[in-house]
Amino acid sequence: MAWSGKFDDMFIENDGNTSAWNQRQPHHKMPAKKNLNTNTPSIIQNLQQGITISLVGVILMRDSPRSVFTKKTPTKERYCISLTLRDSVDWFINATYWGEKAMINSISESFKIGEVVEIHNAMVMAANSFDEKFKPWSPSPFTLNLSEFSNITLYTGPDRDKYLSCSHLPIKPASDYYTLEDVNINGQTLHGENVNLLVAVKKLGQIKDITTKTGKQMKRCELKVFDETCQLFGLILWEEQIINEAVTWIPNQTVLFINDVRITFDEFRNGMISTATSRTVITVNPDIMEAQHLYHFAQLGQDENGTLTENEIDPDISEITDVFTVKQLKESMSSLTSTVQYGIIYGFISWFDVDSEHKHFVRLRCADCSTLFDDNSPMCVNTNCTSASEFNMKPPITEFSIGTAVSDYTDTLRGCFLSTSAAESLLHTNPEQFPFLSINKKTQLKWEVLFEKFQIYFKIKKQGFGTKPYRIRIIQCIPISIQDLTNHFQQQLQ
Ligand SMILES: [Zn+2]
Repeated sequence: MAWSGKFDDMFIENDGNTSAWNQRQPHHKMPAKKNLNTNTPSIIQNLQQGITISLVGVILMRDSPRSVFTKKTPTKERYCISLTLRDSVDWFINATYWGEKAMINSISESFKIGEVVEIHNAMVMAANSFDEKFKPWSPSPFTLNLSEFSNITLYTGPDRDKYLSCSHLPIKPASDYYTLEDVNINGQTLHGENVNLLVAVKKLGQIKDITTKTGKQMKRCELKVFDETCQLFGLILWEEQIINEAVTWIPNQTVLFINDVRITFDEFRNGMISTATSRTVITVNPDIMEAQHLYHFAQLGQDENGTLTENEIDPDISEITDVFTVKQLKESMSSLTSTVQYGIIYGFISWFDVDSEHKHFVRLRCADCSTLFDDNSPMCVNTNCTSASEFNMKPPITEFSIGTAVSDYTDTLRGCFLSTSAAESLLHTNPEQFPFLSINKKTQLKWEVLFEKFQIYFKIKKQGFGTKPYRIRIIQCIPISIQDLTNHFQQQLQ
């Protein structure tokens, strides 16, 4: 299946106000339209308390019918479903539909997450902070109440595509999420917190019927997800509506932006796990660049071992032929068309502090799932990994982690990382032995490398998270003579 996200229609005109993520604070200075004529749909941004409205929006999230006894009718069981409706990039609102059991069940069966609907005779009410705690975060200070006198229908009008495209945008800024490695490393300090995640689908577990302590029938299943930093992470789904969606998600293809997922420390697994709650909103294949990167990464993950060491993906250096000066490379970085760029620089290593006593230049990575080991933990921190238990633990992979800078006569490129094989050939030692070398030996090795002439093979990868949009990895450094260098420049001049 091809990537279904569209990137050219990220912003949807919203009442003449082209929105951006940083303008998402509700601003109520806008003159609110008196919309007593319920035939013309209102827009969420301009709602006013106490009026009855019609509204068109895409269903971002909804739950299953539930029964409640309210203060008003303590003896009579009432039924309701909650919906979250969105009508523009920035604006969405929670709504509750109340009614008899049969009516609510019938509504529940008719409308799925992701459908565009039109509601009529909805009452705009001030959002009650207690109720809102159990609903998705909304920028609107209001909530909608629907009853037997209201109506909900599928919207088939001319703007349907405009509303549909909203459903592919996360409800929080696209950069506001944790990587799974962050979650694992933060560990128990995140216990009980709601965070946002950007993950790809790995596998949907078995769907089980559960009866809760209060006798309520529920479904439960565990979805395994992953990202570029962690191969397997558990997401528990309880809501039947979300589980119905989840069965359509495709392993190694579907990307999810999960807003407000609850992170907990699971004592049984001795690690972190996430749970979708009534506050959680899941955006499927979000229209953001970070998701497209993850989509490509997820597809690469379909090799037979399921391992993701970068060396397996890189071509042989004999196939890398594009030559850059550092200046050319820096200039082209902002306009790189592909996710990964390989090339060669004729230059030298200008930063190589391998004799520093304050840094670790070696790290451990799990042999099963590639998760980096936490400095404080002698084993894999990924709870979903079989190596997370000391009984099944495979010996971890030891690798170099050496930051460096590459220079030539045009400029310097800082923040590069040496691949383990490049570091091994520069240092003539492996990452297992390196920590045991004396400082004098390390200083000697440093000066054997610094400012020497190399043909430097690099890989630049666009990455979707953190403040640095690129990861620059030196794949190999081949020593060259003055004669090689002269030949190279003479060829360039011709
Ligand atoms: Zn592991």
